[in-house]
Amino acid sequence: MLVLWYFIFGLIFGVLSSMAVKDKGRDQTGWFFIGFLFGLFGLIGALIISDNKNEQLDETIIENETIFLECPNCNAKIERQTKYCGKCGISLKEFCFNCKTKNRIDAKYCGNCGKELYKLK
Ligand SMILES: [Zn+2]
Ligand SMILES: [Zn+2]
Repeated sequence: MLVLWYFIFGLIFGVLSSMAVKDKGRDQTGWFFIGFLFGLFGLIGALIISDNKNEQLDETIIENETIFLECPNCNAKIERQTKYCGKCGISLKEFCFNCKTKNRIDAKYCGNCGKELYKLK
């Protein structure tokens, strides 16, 4: 009977440990076995372990890409959500980011290449 209880507690701690590392970008299967073998100690380890550094770095890079765009007129770095380029002052809504054509202010798509124009979210 004791072995069975050990097995059940191992499973519980294994599942808890793998859940604890889920958002940290770590190997869930590996941590399931650590929780299974070490019980409470495995779970504590899973809770206090730091986030996977490499994955954090990737997320920061993706974030930067979405925030910054290049002005179609002067290639200056511009923040997403801005209406006008801070360097040359063009209206970003009118300029096509694909072919650099100036469109009407109320246009949704570029009259030259058909690409959807910049929109504020
Ligand atoms: Zn500009
Ligand atoms: Zn265009």
